[in-house]
Formats: sequence, C-alpha cells, structure tokens
Amino acid sequence: MNRVILIKYGELTTKKGNRNFFINTLYQMILKKLKNYDVKISKDISRMYIEFNDVDLDQILDRINHIFGIHTYQVAIKIDSNEDIINQNVIDYIISKDFKTFKVEVKRCDKKFPISSMDYSRKLGGLILKNKDNISVDVHNPEMLLKVEILEKFTYIYSDTYKGLGGYPVGTQPKGMLMLSGGIDSPVAGYLTMKRGVKIDAVYFEAIPHTSIEARNKVIELTRKLAIYTDKINLHVINFTEIQEAIYKNCNGEYTITIMRRMMYRIMEKLAKKYKGLIITNGESIGQVASQTLTSMSVINEVTNMPVIRPVACLDKLEIIEIAKKIDTYETSILPFEDCCTVFVPKHPVINPSLDECLVNEEKFDYKAMIDNVLNNIDTVVITEEDSEFKDFL
Ligand code: ATP
Ligand code: MG
Repeated sequence: MNRVILIKYGELTTKKGNRNFFINTLYQMILKKLKNYDVKISKDISRMYIEFNDVDLDQILDRINHIFGIHTYQVAIKIDSNEDIINQNVIDYIISKDFKTFKVEVKRCDKKFPISSMDYSRKLGGLILKNKDNISVDVHNPEMLLKVEILEKFTYIYSDTYKGLGGYPVGTQPKGMLMLSGGIDSPVAGYLTMKRGVKIDAVYFEAIPHTSIEARNKVIELTRKLAIYTDKINLHVINFTEIQEAIYKNCNGEYTITIMRRMMYRIMEKLAKKYKGLIITNGESIGQVASQTLTSMSVINEVTNMPVIRPVACLDKLEIIEIAKKIDTYETSILPFEDCCTVFVPKHPVINPSLDECLVNEEKFDYKAMIDNVLNNIDTVVITEEDSEFKDFL
C-alpha cells in the first residue's frame, strides 16, 4: 500500500499513565469505523497509520472526521527510503499541487540515510525549482510546506495538516445517560458529552397518544446521527403518559413542568443504575426557559445525587444552533413533531419554584408506583449509523 493517513493523537498524549488505554480505544474505534474499507491500520506510541491503495479517500476522510481523539492528520505518500525513489516522488508530488511559494523540511529519523536533513532539504528545494515554473522558496510563510520524513524502511511525503475532531475517543470514560428530546439542544449535548470520551445511552420520554410516532422516529433519527460519532447507541424509550397525565390532573398548573422534570430525573437515576451509567447529561441551558432558571435547576436537581452534566449550560441558543448545524442534527431537530414537554406546557410555568410546593404536589398521586411501572416497560432499541429503517418515515 503506497498511501497512508498519519494520525496525531494530540490531547491523548497528556494522559501519561493511561496512554496505552487511550490509544487502544481510538484504535478499536477506527477499526470499527473503517471495517468496510480495504485499509491496513497500525499504531505506535506517537501516531496511528491508515494505509490504503485504491479506496475513495474522501469517504475515508469523512469517517476520520467523525472520530473523537484525533488531533491532526496528514495524507502522505509512503515509499522506500531510497534517494532516487524519494526524488522522483517529490517531483510527482509537487507537480500535482498548486502553490506559488514553498519550503522543504526533511526529517532524517534514520541516521543511516546518507545525507543530512539540512543538505537534503536544500537539494530537494533545488530539484523542485527545476521541475515547476513560477514558484519560489519562502522559508517564513510558505504556501506549501513539504515534509519528507525518512525512517529506516519507509519515507513519508506530505504537506497539508488537517484538524481532526479533537476530544477523547468514545469509550475512554464510562457511560453517561443522555436525556434526548427531539429538540435542538439535547443532540448537541450528546455530541459534546461523547467528545469527552463518554459512551452514551439515550433516553427519550414519550407520552403517546399526546405525542406522535413521528416524534419518536425523529428521536431515533437524531440518535442515528449521533451514532456516526461512535459505534452504537442504546436508545431507551420511556412511556411517560401515565405520569404526565397524573401530574396534569393533580398538580398546581404552574408547577407541572417542574414536577414533570423532577420525575424525569428520578427515572434517569434509576435507569443509570440499571444500565451502569455514572452521569446524567442533558441539553439544559441556563435561563433558556422557565425550567432552566438556576432556581428551577436546583429544585429539579434536588431529587438526585447523581452528577448532572449540562454541556450547553453556558452557550447561547445561536451557539448551540451553530454546533447542531455542524453535526447535522439541526434539520432533523426543527421538524415540527412535538415531544412530551411541549404538549403539556402550561401558560405560566413557575420561574422560581419552591421545593415545598413541589413536595406538596407530589403527595397527590402515587408517583413511586408509576415510576416502577415505567421501569418495567422500557422499550430499548440499539441504533447504529447504518440504521436507516426509520429515515423514510420522516
Ligand atoms: P431541546 O432543544 O434539547 O429539546 P429544550 O430547549 O426544548 O431542549 P426542555 O424541553 O426544557 O428544553 O428540555 C431540557 C432538556 O431536558 C432537553 O435538552 C433534554 O435533554 C431533556 N428533555 C426534555 N424533554 C425530553 C424528553 N421528552 N425526553 C428526553 N429528554 C428530554
Ligand atoms: Mg425540548
């Protein structure tokens, strides 16, 4: 194989003791994501190598661009460490590129190679000038920085360095439970959580017949889009109808959302225990709606001791939308089907709820039995990025 993608780990390398674990997790993820391609993947302590011949490079790069833990990468030509071969390949390489100024940087890692890095850089510079018109050397700010890395057996030739997604490989942290509604914020929260290496299970609360099957399929499609960044995501669909109707019937109208969210958190905590999740993560953003004021958040959060991570807590809606567009969830999120929150929204939800008022209202119905009931009827679907069964539905 004569072409290779050279992958730099970046932030991974700060994890001294865990380095091998991080590298192996990334390696496994790359293996899974490229399983349908004719490539050879290998690794060492500083880089990962994806070798290939005749595959569609754009497709491979698209895969690479959806994997967390990759800091930067280059697409290189891999040849024997022989001067004549290197010279010829450098000429072919620069002819295929468009640039006006350049610089050559040779890195002779194998000292048995007969010419020093400095001398060979100069020599290659001269060769390039001879073989392409209207170009000049610029050592400070070249349009093309040509790198020639000479190792014992192979030499790599490359120029552009591309930015990867960064973050940590998914699976380097234990599991988190994502509250995934059909909105804009929670898929972004899921993406950002995975970016820190956390594997996620998604949880969707639905209230059929008040919410539609289209709303559920929308969440399935969002989960599929998130699964592009990992191997698979378990989506747990929770039947919230009985609880929601009981809240609506029994509780102070201003408090329905606050209490509904307390119920969600209670269920999330139980689900986390059941599925071995260590955190709850969601798309709450400070001040965005009545249930996301700091008072609301603290009253809602009161039902659990589990850490609740809110990756978009301090982002503006426009900043969240920008990420949603980048990760391609936005168009699905803005489809009109309502989830269970929007269906039951009161006219005047309380902005500064009191805990006592919540407790008084929660006395009015047997929510514990209802929660047990919910937990005995979970509908779990395993979603992968290839799962296109529901796409036609939308
Ligand atoms: P989003 O755009 O993510 O739906 P939102 O602005 O509509 O958020 P809320 O409806 O108040 O805000 O919900 C806040 C967060 O609570 C959501 O981001 C999501 O994490 C969670 N959540 C809300 N509704 C549901 C639901 N039906 N199922 C699962 N999680 C939900
Ligand atoms: Mg919502």
